[in-house]
Amino acid sequence: MRIAGSKQKLPIRSTSEGLNTRALRSEASVTLALASMDSHVVDLNKDTSALSKRVKSEFDEVEQYLWEVYQREPVKKDGSGDFTWKDQAAARRMSMSLQRYVISGMDPDFREQLYHAGRAMDADGLRWSILSAFRDDYRQSIASGLKAGAKNSRHGGSLRTGGYGHGQAIDVTGTEGTTMDQVWRWIDGHGGKYGLHRPMPGYDPAHVQSRRDWRKVAQNLRKRRNQLAQHEREVTLASLGRD
Ligand SMILES: [Zn+2]
Repeated sequence: MRIAGSKQKLPIRSTSEGLNTRALRSEASVTLALASMDSHVVDLNKDTSALSKRVKSEFDEVEQYLWEVYQREPVKKDGSGDFTWKDQAAARRMSMSLQRYVISGMDPDFREQLYHAGRAMDADGLRWSILSAFRDDYRQSIASGLKAGAKNSRHGGSLRTGGYGHGQAIDVTGTEGTTMDQVWRWIDGHGGKYGLHRPMPGYDPAHVQSRRDWRKVAQNLRKRRNQLAQHEREVTLASLGRD
């Protein structure tokens, strides 16, 4: 049967009001009905739980450790004054959490080096902390005192390192009874083992960065950490089996 009248012949989205909302509503209910009839509903649930797992492990153990170290000394200051606000402002500018900005902005290999050196320092009884880690060009531009140009910092300058995710320098200090001098001396004595050094002990003593062969050093350190974790898992499983 042919339907008479111009109204029924119009395409559903070309009424004078622009959109035919009644038609859209009915399309929506058809889509919903289909979604609940097939496996989409199950898939959506699976995706949600996978997402929540990713959120839980957003930071790996290295990032978590370095963030804990960063927070040991919550007030960031040096000879030029209190600059705690600067990392916070730079993180906000990039719409990131402070941890994601200062810690995850460093190169994963450099983080690996810091993790192992830091744990060794902890074991030697030194309470070390991080004054400054990743700095993008903006953060570098508001840094005070002796510093490289905005794009040329090893802390994460876009020209020097490639920017976010590539920072290869931190400024270190001591806290809770450990002096900065003790931390600097420890780096001088043991840093080489971890591919780290203080290139400017005279005019920028807090500055620690990677040295040659650091990629290789970092890979070996990561391998050792993963082997240790694997070993610990096996020991745990074995002890569970005995009970
Ligand atoms: Zn520095």
